[in-house]
Amino acid sequence: MTGQANQRYVVVVQCHLVVQRCSGYFCELSFDRREGGFAGYPAGQPLRSLYMTCGGCCGRGLQRKLTHLLRQLRKHEQLGPKDVVVHLASCLTHENFHGPPCPHLEYLKTLIHRTGVAVVEGTRISMLSEQRRRSGQYAKAAGDGCH
Ligand code: SF4
Ligand code: SF4
Repeated sequence: MTGQANQRYVVVVQCHLVVQRCSGYFCELSFDRREGGFAGYPAGQPLRSLYMTCGGCCGRGLQRKLTHLLRQLRKHEQLGPKDVVVHLASCLTHENFHGPPCPHLEYLKTLIHRTGVAVVEGTRISMLSEQRRRSGQYAKAAGDGCH
C-alpha cells in the first residue's frame, strides 16, 4: 500500500463475475474504516468513492468506463486523473475462496495506466485469508472465507 494523501476520489474496481455473488460489503467496510488496501489514507482525509466492475472478461470495457468517469469529473468538478486512484478489489488481485487472481490482472492495470490514473492492488484484506494464502490452502482446495 502506498500513501495516497493527495487523491480525492477512490474507484473500487470489482470482478464482474464475483459481484454476481458479492455485494461488495467488505470492500466498502474496509474503505470506511481505512483498513487493508485503504490503510494509507490519512484519517480524516475527505474522500469520495465509487464502485464499478471490470465489465467482464477480458476487462476491456474498464478503460471506457474510467474514461467516462474522468470526462464527467473534469466537466463537473474540475478534477483530473491525478485526483483519482483505482483500487482493484482483493478478490481480483489475491488468491481467495472465489479462486486464483484474475488472469487478466496485468491487462487491467495497463488499461488503467493508460487513463493516467494511479492503481493500487487490494481492498479488503482478511486475516484468515492471509493465513490461508501463506499456508497454500487455497491452492489445494476451495475453501470458505473472504479475500
Ligand atoms: S474483495 Fe471481497 S467484498 Fe470486495 S468485491 Fe471482492 S469478494 Fe466482494
Ligand atoms: S477480467 Fe478478471 S476481474 Fe474481470 S470478470 Fe474476468 S476474471 Fe473477473
